[in-house]
Amino acid sequence: MDFSPQTLLPIMAKAAYFIAAVLFILGIKRMASPVTARKGIIQAGIGMVLATVATFGVTGAHNIWWILGGLALGIIPAWISGKRVAMTSMPQMVALYNGMGGGSAAAIGAVELLKYSTPGHPRPATSVIVLAIIGALIGSVSMTGSIIAWAKLDGVLDKRFNFAGQNFVNFAVLGASLVFGAMLLFVGLEVRWVVQFFSLALLFGILMTLPIGGADMPVVISLFNALTGLAVGFEGYVLQNEALIIAGTVVGAAGTLLTQLMAKAMNRPISGVLFTKFGGGGAATEIAGSQKPIEADDAASLLYMADSIIIVPGYGMAVAQAQHKIWELSKQLIARDKSVKFAIHPVAGRMPGHMNVLLAEAGVPYDIITDMDEINAEFPTCDVAIVIGANDVVNPAAKTDKSSPIYGMPILDVVKAKQTIVIKRGKGTGFAGIENALFYADNTKMLFADGQEAANKLIAGLKAMDSGGGH
Ligand code: NAP
Repeated sequence: MDFSPQTLLPIMAKAAYFIAAVLFILGIKRMASPVTARKGIIQAGIGMVLATVATFGVTGAHNIWWILGGLALGIIPAWISGKRVAMTSMPQMVALYNGMGGGSAAAIGAVELLKYSTPGHPRPATSVIVLAIIGALIGSVSMTGSIIAWAKLDGVLDKRFNFAGQNFVNFAVLGASLVFGAMLLFVGLEVRWVVQFFSLALLFGILMTLPIGGADMPVVISLFNALTGLAVGFEGYVLQNEALIIAGTVVGAAGTLLTQLMAKAMNRPISGVLFTKFGGGGAATEIAGSQKPIEADDAASLLYMADSIIIVPGYGMAVAQAQHKIWELSKQLIARDKSVKFAIHPVAGRMPGHMNVLLAEAGVPYDIITDMDEINAEFPTCDVAIVIGANDVVNPAAKTDKSSPIYGMPILDVVKAKQTIVIKRGKGTGFAGIENALFYADNTKMLFADGQEAANKLIAGLKAMDSGGGH
């Protein structure tokens, strides 16, 4: 037996890749529930560190300072920005990190294709060239597309760029990039074609994302995330690196499922996201009647008299950072023998699981947090529904108004509750930019205030009620 480091190290590295792959898969499984998600993230992170270290065993520690410099360049800003980022800015950060992943896959493709293009370099197997090209194309599109998505979500780029024949131009650019890719494959590997192929692929990523509205960006980011995974998987095949293949495939599959789920929950086909406009475009039917304001003390007395209460959080709760106060209010209600449940719509907020994360942060127990499908049947028997900063996800137009841009999106049936208190600052619309008939319903009262301030006043109102100070 040969026990030299040259023989042992690659074997150990392959074993470490296997362990890393198991950690990725277990980690992602744990992310399915808020109870275990934190552990899942740490587990997958350990897998990633293991795979990174193991790579030195496969390749040897060449160019060590360049590699360590590169790692530091990635780790330090990511650590700092990850620590500082506000929950509401998470989608932007995900977009940016995702773009980096796509860029890395594209960079691997570029280095490999340029290497094959150097005179005298033996031509690799056709499958390797094909996957290097496809991976590089997808990675490039994902990188520039994600950067545009980040800019739109962050408000740096607040416009949608549309012009006649846009889809045609976009496909022409994609087609031209594919032509250069085909030339690399069929005519010969030449540096100039590599450069032209990449320039066009990067340009296509920008062009395809520019016309998409900020409203659709979270779905687009999820789509780019899936594409980045695929690109990493393909480039893993090119490098014959099992860890990259597995990690890429897992991300690609998970990203594809997430994209489909989000698109379904928003009733937006992926083709609709990519090629048509959303929000503000549809002329929704006018709503008759008026919104009926309520003072916090009166709202507190409604709660005081209720037995069952369902709280529906939305994006505004995240903006107001009111989750702690809302939980405090819930505890006050539970202490007065009331049944309190939280109803979570799958796309409430601005990213998947947004509300679950906030409620978990505030310490709300998971057994009173319910999904849309579970809770919808309970609204007709619910005494008071409190809607805090949610709008589109409780808009009955999604079921009743065919002209509405959100028609067909599943919603929480708050409109069926006996009484509803809606907490929002004013008459601002939600993400889809449309009016909400729930706010005009006879049994809906509007508590106009910032989410946190309203929760504080409701708590004070309840306490005053105990001492007989209420209405
Ligand atoms: P929403 O429709 O965006 O409505 C949020 C409401 O919160 C607004 O009407 C706003 O009204 C209110 N608000 C804002 N700041 C507030 C504050 N400080 N205090 C109290 N209220 C405040 O939210 P949603 O019902 O959660 O719906 C989510 C939307 O995002 C859906 O259309 C969904 O399709 C979309 N979306 C979600 C995801 C995801 O993954 N979760 C991804 C993409 C898109 P005022 O201005 O009057 O206060």
